[in-house]
Amino acid sequence: MQNRRDVFKTTLALSSLAGLAATSAGAASAGKPIVVSTWDFGVAANSAAWDVLKTGGHALDAVEAGARVPEADMKNHSVGRAGYPDRDGHVSLDASIMDEQWRCGAVAALEHIDHPISVARLVMEKTPHVLLVGDGALQFAIEQGFTPQELLTPESEAAWKDWLKTAKYESVANSEMSTYGHAPGSKVPGDVHNHDTLGMLALDAQGRLCGACTTSGMAWKLRGRVGDSPIIGAGLYVDGEVGGATSTGVGEEVIRNAGSFLVVELMRQGRSPQQACEEAVMRIVKRRPEAAKTLQVGFLALNTKGEVGACAIQPGFVYAQCDGNKTDLVVPSKSVFS
Ligand code: ASP
Repeated sequence: MQNRRDVFKTTLALSSLAGLAATSAGAASAGKPIVVSTWDFGVAANSAAWDVLKTGGHALDAVEAGARVPEADMKNHSVGRAGYPDRDGHVSLDASIMDEQWRCGAVAALEHIDHPISVARLVMEKTPHVLLVGDGALQFAIEQGFTPQELLTPESEAAWKDWLKTAKYESVANSEMSTYGHAPGSKVPGDVHNHDTLGMLALDAQGRLCGACTTSGMAWKLRGRVGDSPIIGAGLYVDGEVGGATSTGVGEEVIRNAGSFLVVELMRQGRSPQQACEEAVMRIVKRRPEAAKTLQVGFLALNTKGEVGACAIQPGFVYAQCDGNKTDLVVPSKSVFS
């Protein structure tokens, strides 16, 4: 049994911990806003996010607005409503969102709803849960006022039927190397329409760092397959005191290594965002060196000082950065293989 003195000591310790939490939860110090996003389609997404950030808005609103841009883009076959379907022809979407106070929400294998990022935000704000999947996620979205619709576009359907002709119904990992930096027409696996995820991190003028991640996942995947993007700690992780990270590429590799959480933890231990991304990528490569030769994983990180880092296994991964001065910068990341 505790005596009075022990109780007092415990209470004191708990209240100072609570005080620490109260002062440290939430925003880092105020500074210059910045937003970064995976891939070249991140440029348009950043621009929508920047409209929120430049007027002093919350980073959470910025990343949601940004993620909605590729989700609505009918030419983008890897995010949102025009995303390529699974091998049975169903378009199923994954998304997650996280704010500076460790609040997060996600949806996985969501069908018939064109803005999964907004559903993910509502999971965070309106439910006691973090992740809703499949029919349950759809039911929740409808309850929240979203209108179900057919997401399979004629273009995506034609591409899927083409795939069926030769693929023997076998799902393969998309190695998704961009054509960025390669000569036009050069033979690189994947092309500009075949990058799979918008991962976005934004730091607002009040030092709040938030992130969003949205994708239709791997094209022609097995029905029910869920990638890294809606898994908090895999495709996205944000710690408002340290920074955030997001990923793109073969989600299975990212999940195995709790990739985005790893990047953020490395930053917590003192690595720069660049060093943290490189170390996380190397961990994947070292654990499965043979597999790593043919697959792509890229990490993008932003810390609360506004410093950015990115690294991928394969060349071709690019990210877009907007900090007010340079609004449409697309930067190739470092890669392990050249
Ligand atoms: N990470 C996504 C997934 O595995 C796809 C990608 O970014 O290539 O679903």
